[in-house]
Amino acid sequence: MEYLTLTIGKQKNIALIAHDSKKHEMIDWCEANKEILKGHFLCGTGTTARMITEATGLPVKGYNSGPLGGDQQIGAKIVEGRVDFVIFFSDPLTAQPHDPDVKALLRIAQVYDIPIANNKATADFMITSPLMNAEYDHNVINFHQNIKERASTL
Ligand code: PGA
Repeated sequence: MEYLTLTIGKQKNIALIAHDSKKHEMIDWCEANKEILKGHFLCGTGTTARMITEATGLPVKGYNSGPLGGDQQIGAKIVEGRVDFVIFFSDPLTAQPHDPDVKALLRIAQVYDIPIANNKATADFMITSPLMNAEYDHNVINFHQNIKERASTL
């Protein structure tokens, strides 16, 4: 079997990340969507998570700060199936010291077919989707099978 069917539950595990110039936009977006976000499990990179909680009262579990490995922690949670939805307001106009980590997170979200918004318009479309209140089945590469085949053919 090449693909496994995994289910994103009704209650989603949402990661929230905002680069510095986008943090206030992220806080405003969380405030505007507070009633919806309350129904899900929230986490985020350290500074973003703390600022959202302080401003909105939403509980957001904080990982390390992005430049100190927070994006990589969230990527690892995607691999483990513990994060299944990402809102990432990245800054397209400023060079980031952790650019490789940012790219790695985008890549792993793509590999695991995780919905990921990198700007407010996409986040608005995602958060108002009827799928926010539904289970969603998606196909993900069967990694056990993949390892078995690679180990026997390489
Ligand atoms: P921060 O990290 O929330 O700790 O600022 C975000 C990032 O820059 O990736």
